[in-house]
Amino acid sequence: MSLNPTSQPLSGRVAVVTGASSGIGEASAERLALLGARVVVLARRADRLADLVARIEKNGGSALAVAADVTDAAALRGAADRVRAEFGGADLLLNNAGVMLPAPIEELATDQWKHQIDLNITGLMNAIGAFTRQLVESAAERGVADLINTSSIAARNIFPNFAVYSGTKAYVTHLSRHLRAELGAKNVRVSAIEPGIVGTELQSHVTDRGAQDWLAGSKESMEWLTARDIAETVGFIAALPPRVNLQQVTIMPTGQAA
Ligand code: NDP
Repeated sequence: MSLNPTSQPLSGRVAVVTGASSGIGEASAERLALLGARVVVLARRADRLADLVARIEKNGGSALAVAADVTDAAALRGAADRVRAEFGGADLLLNNAGVMLPAPIEELATDQWKHQIDLNITGLMNAIGAFTRQLVESAAERGVADLINTSSIAARNIFPNFAVYSGTKAYVTHLSRHLRAELGAKNVRVSAIEPGIVGTELQSHVTDRGAQDWLAGSKESMEWLTARDIAETVGFIAALPPRVNLQQVTIMPTGQAA
């Protein structure tokens, strides 16, 4: 079934989504495609990306799978070259790949600290490094481009045992504010999305028993957000008139206090 063009405000746009093989990235890629963007879906699990591309195409959209590890700067530069060659360059980057591994700091879970910093900070920067030039060029040509970074309420709120994760997300939020000031003059809108708890694979990577119990209790006491809730927000941000930049969106489960 082909889609009605009037319902496709992102028609003509090219969106790159990192962390697109599950959760928020996967749902956002589908949403952006539904709104008319050609979508480049990037993550490590090629099989999941192939399924996603098939689903998007079945719904009348257009997508390209790029299996890559965002912690590998050279791989991301290669991905950017491919996006330029196949789609003419990106005008939207949803910089979303991330991992949350809470643990008491005294346990010295240094491998988990490194994993979070490498992925949530260095991986995010690798994507920015690979795609910023394309965003700036697209904005100059087409009048607008978007850099949307997935942060978290952990960037601001205090959660015991989540210090390293929260630190990485504080980096994402603060970086986004600075880049907004720097790139806004070039018509590249920079936004940080700060979700509360969203039910995705993110929670399945948590190994700390205390955090697992806290998450299980939270799931019983409230209805968590879905990845689709965040995807709708991503689509909303991207479809705004070029003069409008949602700098920051905090999106919470109604029942989550902080
Ligand atoms: P998921 O675990 O479902 O998704 C994480 C995505 O990141 C996967 O697609 C995974 O794919 C990808 N990824 C992991 N490592 C790498 C890597 N080295 N290179 C490329 N891709 C990688 O979790 P969410 O959808 O929940 O998380 C998305 C973002 O949302 C994260 O930044 C997270 O911090 C943030 N967030 C999530 C919240 C929640 O409650 N769920 C709340 C607030 C923020 P693959 O393994 O195939 O590489």
